[in-house]
Parts: sequence; structure tokens; C-alpha cells
Amino acid sequence: MENTPRPSKVAGIFLNRCPVCDRAGVFRGPYLMNAACPHCGVVYQREDGYFLGALVLAYFSTGAVIAPVFLWLLFFLQWELGASLLVISLLVFATNPIFFYLSRMMWIHMDREVGRRAWDQDKRGG
Ligand SMILES: [Zn+2]
Repeated sequence: MENTPRPSKVAGIFLNRCPVCDRAGVFRGPYLMNAACPHCGVVYQREDGYFLGALVLAYFSTGAVIAPVFLWLLFFLQWELGASLLVISLLVFATNPIFFYLSRMMWIHMDREVGRRAWDQDKRGG
């Protein structure tokens, strides 16, 4: 696997790849992250509250998807407010695992790009 080509950063986010080595998966199941990379050993949670930024990303990305659907149901299809709220609530619930995954992956990849030296110092043997 050492000689396999590395995916692009965007592909690495969608393919569940470590931001440092691009070799191992960050998530091992729905809502289950590895504490550290199984390949290079870098710790993903950099400090207490580290994933608060991912929470903000999830909030805004969910809103960017949900708000147009809500407005479309309410104004274009002219559904009642209660029915529209019920549908978008179900949509938020159904898409939560996707936004949870993507927001954390985007957060650690963005943070690695900004603080590359600190991330690389933390990897096993680095
Ligand atoms: Zn790694």
C-alpha cells in the first residue's frame, strides 16, 4: 500500500483517509473515529474541544442543504408550516451521519493544512 498513489485532499475527505499519511481510515464505523491513525499514529483530537469547529461546519452545511428544501416546501409547493417542519426535521435526522462524518473530515483536513508542522511532528517516529 506504500506505493499506491495518494488521493487528492478532497478525495481524501470523502474516502475517509488520514490527513497526514492518506493511508488509513479516520472513521472505523458510523460515529466511531479512531483516536489515532492506525498507520502513522497521529492523534486526531488535537486538544479538548477540538471538534467544536467541526460542529460549526456541520451546522452551516446542514443549514445550506435544509433551508432551500424548507423554503421550497413552504413557498413553492405551499405546504403547511407543520408539515414542512416535520419533513425537514426528518431530513436533518436522516442526513446527520453524513454531515457528522463530512464536517469532522473537512475539519481535520483543513486544520492539518493550516498547521502542517504540528501535525507532522505528532506522527509516529516524527
Ligand atoms: Zn495517518
